[in-house]
Order: sequence, then structure tokens, then C-alpha cells
Amino acid sequence: MSRYANIIVDISMEKLDKTFQYRIPDKLKEELAVGTQVIVPFGSRTLTGYVLELTDICEFEPSKMKEILAVAEKGMPLEGQLIALARWMRRTYGGTMNQALKTVLPVRKKVQEKTRKRLVRRISLEDAREYLELFERKHQTARFRLLAALMDTPELDYRLVSEQLHLSAATVKKLEEMGILRIETAMVFRNPVRPSGTESHPFCLNVSQQAVVDSIWKRVQAEDLRPSLLYGVTGSGKTAVYLELIAGALERGKEAIVLIPEIALTFQTALRFYKRFGDLVSIMNSRLSAGERYDQFERARRGEVRVMIGPRSALFTPFQKLGIIVIDEEHEASYKSETAPRYHARETAVRRAQMTGAFVVMGSATPSVESYEKALNGTYCLYKLEQRIHGRPLPAVEVVDLRRELKEGNRSILSIRLKELMEDRLNKGQQIMLFLNRRGYAGFVSCRACGHVLKCPHCDVSLSLHMGGRMVCHYCGYEEQANRECPSCGSPYIGAFRAGTQQVAEIVGREFPGAGILRMDMDTTKNKDGHEKILEAFSEGRADILVGTQMIVKGHDFPNVTLVGVLAADLSLYTGDYRASERTFQLLTQAAGRAGRGREEGIAVVQTYTPDHYGIEAAAAQDYGMFFERELSYRQLMEYPPAAHLLAVYLTHTDKDGLERGADRLKELLLKQADGRKVSIIGPADAYVAKINDIYRKVVYLKSREMEELLFMKEETELFCREDTVIGQLNIQFDMDPMNGF
Ligand code: ADP
Ligand code: ZN
Ligand code: ZN
Repeated sequence: MSRYANIIVDISMEKLDKTFQYRIPDKLKEELAVGTQVIVPFGSRTLTGYVLELTDICEFEPSKMKEILAVAEKGMPLEGQLIALARWMRRTYGGTMNQALKTVLPVRKKVQEKTRKRLVRRISLEDAREYLELFERKHQTARFRLLAALMDTPELDYRLVSEQLHLSAATVKKLEEMGILRIETAMVFRNPVRPSGTESHPFCLNVSQQAVVDSIWKRVQAEDLRPSLLYGVTGSGKTAVYLELIAGALERGKEAIVLIPEIALTFQTALRFYKRFGDLVSIMNSRLSAGERYDQFERARRGEVRVMIGPRSALFTPFQKLGIIVIDEEHEASYKSETAPRYHARETAVRRAQMTGAFVVMGSATPSVESYEKALNGTYCLYKLEQRIHGRPLPAVEVVDLRRELKEGNRSILSIRLKELMEDRLNKGQQIMLFLNRRGYAGFVSCRACGHVLKCPHCDVSLSLHMGGRMVCHYCGYEEQANRECPSCGSPYIGAFRAGTQQVAEIVGREFPGAGILRMDMDTTKNKDGHEKILEAFSEGRADILVGTQMIVKGHDFPNVTLVGVLAADLSLYTGDYRASERTFQLLTQAAGRAGRGREEGIAVVQTYTPDHYGIEAAAAQDYGMFFERELSYRQLMEYPPAAHLLAVYLTHTDKDGLERGADRLKELLLKQADGRKVSIIGPADAYVAKINDIYRKVVYLKSREMEELLFMKEETELFCREDTVIGQLNIQFDMDPMNGF
């Protein structure tokens, strides 16, 4: 039983890190938990506060320490729940309690936000790595430094950038023009749409949709609050199911949170929610400043808003009577935070729902392996929508073997079959999407004659090609020199695969001189609304062909698109991490799902050097079950999540030798600690980007089938940091079951 409690007395203050320690009187020992609201003496007043921590470590002169007077409110008030959630996040995902609190409780900022400019990264970490490598190659050191800083922290204060990184306005401007960042000043939030009142006639759900809704309500009534996983093929009407469930929750006097990945949160999607729920809806996006987010949350707290839609941070909306949390596209990597605490919004949502008696409904056409496994073993409840709305067929998928094209002398990036179909569609006045799933930073190395890919012998992930022809495994640190010929067939056609959307657009333009071509990627969407404008133009038929990166595959309905071409499916297959096959399957399925949404049937053509890879075979067969089984057995064999848990420990230091010494020392201590435990330790290895802004970066991985074992090792590592002088020099961050790399 702990003797002292660390208490936070005012959570709307600018600083959350100010805690005060109080003695726990015997009569309250049973009643206190993290999050309990208490009454404490404070100077000459009495205040209410929240318990942040129960401890036996006394931080003040015990004789001067005051006692907690009473428990303020029975049960757990909302703030208390969020504090308890923060506590769980800190324990599971690492970081400090203060970082966790700031994540769940928006802090009112006193700074003059209106005059503050911020730089905000617009691109994913993976894409950023690619640019970073480009800048390094071209010796553009100022750009390199700025982007590197943005990779560390997705948002930077403008003044800080100019004063501490000594970067000129021209450098910032250049990266803005390239679409890598945007410059922001605080803006006033308002709802994007004024609903006109009478548009709220929903269509009737079909039989399968209704069955899902009924079954979920039946379970909720029986107090079976297990999370539901809605596995529904693209265009099967999942959103309509969410809307119906939310409506039901509102009728019961409850509130709803809807998580949607930022990239899929388009105007179209927002409109559907506004049309149904009018002014009860509010939408958050990552462009809101801390103060604006605070205002949004205040409206929710007061009950003015009852449906909050947004990316992962919307999860912490302070609803008093939360009834349902919807997670759309639950497989998306953007649900994993890239800063400490590196929490997963799905797991955290499940936790929050448990604490509040709400239920979670998550949906996807390509569920994550983690969630599907939970659905099969009964932790979640599985629901399926296997048909598209109006009985529309799923598109046919054809696989083209690019090795054969090469053998037959076709070196174009367009296969003969794809060209033929494109011509046909253009003649019929139908539209085409060409998709380049460009991914990853330091490209993988493969043979274009036989499809062989160079992999780490220990980790079964692809090796990444680095400067100077080194090939590196980012899990265990294994290295070898790049080959000049294929170790499998001896062909000289071995190397890293690179092609950009611009080249593709040019080539297509030469092949089809009459066709209207639009390109959508980081470059063409750099202007405000550039993204929406391109989609609008394409949707209005002002172009025949849309060429783009993964940006184009998410959540858009183009009824006139009858052909989707995936130019090189392999690009996302070998990104050097264990989730590569899963991501490829997801991208291919989503891409194919773009075809044939209207009355005409659709075809997807998938070009690849490895047609017999199960990720590609399963996507072609549109067979999620087959993919899941193969993928799960790979994860089991290699002990990757969900078969085991993986805790990444990211190490950084300004001094290369210091980092190496610290990493080795950490490994040594971890090995000692792991003795007799069910934990294995891998690495240290260089991070994907081994150096940013003169800071060196390494990773150590810990693997175990037991999450608790890893949590124990994490706490031990935190101890080493405090007690060991060599390790103490390093900056250490944890990432449980990482998704975004480092
Ligand atoms: P998903 O989210 O599974 O991709 P959506 O919910 O977006 O699918 O539904 C696809 C399309 O079908 C949307 O245009 C939607 O308005 C329409 N739709 C959904 N359910 C029905 C229904 N029961 N009757 C008619 N149209 C529907
Ligand atoms: Zn070969
Ligand atoms: Zn390895």
C-alpha cells in the first residue's frame, strides 16, 4: 500500500508537470487509484486535484508534508479516466508521464498563437526518408537539416528553425514548394459545411448491413462489449453501418468518436456525417493548433458537439457519456503515433472504451493481421460484408509477369497487356488510374531477370541499399557488399528499382499522345487544396488518366474508372520491415477496389517481378483469408507481431563512438537482465537514417511472446539510463510493436 500520492491540482494550467506530493491518510488507503479526484489543502485554501501516481518514494520533508483531506467524487470522473489512460499509455508505450498527459489532456496555451508561425511536415516518414536521401546525394545540406528536423518532430516553431538551425527563409520556401512542409499560422476553426437541414434522409440498409447493426446492439444490450471488427470488401457499405450505429448511440443519449486516417478524411467523407448529424458533428484535423483543439474539446465537454471525427488525437475528446468509438481503416499505420508516447490509437481506443463502458467498432477491407487474429480467437467479434452494394462485382485482377516482358524484349514500364487495355478504355471514353506504390527509402535490391530479392539471412526481411554499395539489415545490423550479378541466376540485371510518377506520366504521354493525363503526388498537391482540385478535375472527366502514388488509392469514388494499373507491385513488397507483405496486400487490394465502382465492370492489372509471392497472389485472387494464413505463419515462424511482441529501443547521440559504446553496453546489460526470461535481443543496428542533423541513430530490438516481459525490460532500461553513466549519455525512446520505422 503506497504512502504518498503525487497530485496535480489544476489540469487546465499551462504546465501539467507541476505535481505536489501529499501523504495518504490510513482511512483513504483503500480508495485511491490513479485518476481519483481528491480534496487537498493548498496554501490557505482547499483545492480539488487528481492522483497522478501512488508511491513510497518521499520527495519532500515528511514532517512538512500535508495530508489528503478526502476523496472528492465517488467513481472516476472524466479527467480521472483520461489520467488513468495516460498512465496506461506511459506504461505500455514508454515516454514520460508528462508526455502522456499532454497527449490525453489538451493544454490551454497562453502564447499568442495568431502571431506564431509553424512548419508542419506534410509527408509520411517513409517519403521523407526518400527526400532525405536525395538531399544527401545532392549535398543540399540546408534542406537536409530542415527535413531531418521535421522527421524528428513533425511540427516546428518557425523562429526556432531560423534561430537554432540557422536556416534561411529561402530553404523553408523551397521545401514548401516541394510539398514537404506547409507554413502555418493559427487559424480560426469553423465547421466546413452548413448543413441545409432537410438532407438527412438516409437510404435503407441492406440485409447484410442491418444484420451487423442488429447483432452489435444485441451484444451491447447483453453487456458483451468486446470490440467488433467489420471486415467488409471495398464498397460494401461500411460507412453506412457506422452512421447507423452512431445514430443509435445518440438516441440512447450517448456520444461518438470516429477515427479516420487523415489521408482518407476527405470533404466527401465529412459531408456524409454532416448530412446525417448536422451541427452535432465536429471535425478535427492535424492543422488545428493546440488552442483550437482545446476549444473543440471544450465544446464537446459542454455537449454542444456529440460526434467528433478526426485522426488519432480525436480519441481523447472529453465526452462525458461516450457510447461508441468507430475506427475506420483500422489497419492504417497512421494510427500509430510517431512521437512519444508512441501509442497505437486502436489499442488505446479499446482501453478507453473498457474504462467508460463504450464499445469499439473497427472496419477495414484489409484488416490488420493483429486485429483479424484477435477476431478469430474471440477477443474481438468478427462481422463480414462480402458483397459490394447493389451486387456490383469486385474488379477482376490480372497479374503480369515483368520478367517475361523483359525476356520478350519489352523494357517499357507498361506491359503489353496493360497498354492494350488502356487503348481500349481510351477508345470507350472510360477512365484509367495508374498507381506507383513507391515506398521505402533506401531501395531494395532485386533481379529483373528472375525476381530474386536480397534478404537478411537472420531476419527474413529485405536488405536496404545504402551509399557506397553497402546492403544493410535494419533489424540486426547484418551487412554485405552489393552484388554485381544475381546470386540466383547470374544475370547482370540486378539493382535498386527507382521510378517516379513524373517519368511515368511522361512515358504515358508519349505512348498516348491524345490522352489527358493528371498526375497526383507530393509535387502536384503542394498547393492548398491541390489534392482536392486534382480529384475534382478527374472526377468531372477533365482527364482520362490519373497517375499517382498511394495517395490516389484511398477513399475516392470514381464511377467511370474501369481500369487500374499497378506498375510495380514489388516496390512496397521489400521495404526492409516485417510488415512489407501486409502493406503490399493492402495497397493492391485498395487499388484494385478503385476499379469498377460504377455500372461498368472493372479490371485491375498488377505488374510484378514476383507473381508467385503470396501477397500478390492473394491480392490477385482477392482472397484475404489466404493472405492472412500465409502471413500469420510467417509471423509465427519469425516471431514477429502478433505472434510475439517487438519492442524497439531507439538510441541517439551526437557522438558516434559514444552511441556505439552506449548501444553495446545496453545490449550487454539487457542480455544479463534477460537471462532466464523469455526475451531475445536483436541488434544494435543502424536506423534507416543513421544520422540526422549530426545526431547518430541506432536501434535495438527486444522480442518476446509475453508483453509483460517486454514491459519489465523497458522499466529495466529506464533504470540503466538513470544509473549507468555510459547509457545515461544516450537519448532513448521506446516503440512497442513499431509500424513506422525510425
Ligand atoms: P465502404 O465504406 O465499405 O467502402 P460505403 O459505405 O462508402 O462503402 O458505401 C459505398 C457506396 O454505397 C456509397 O456511395 C454509399 O452511399 C452506398 N451505399 C451504402 N449502403 C447503401 C445501401 N444500403 N443502399 C444504397 N446505397 C448504399
Ligand atoms: Zn536473377
Ligand atoms: Zn537481420
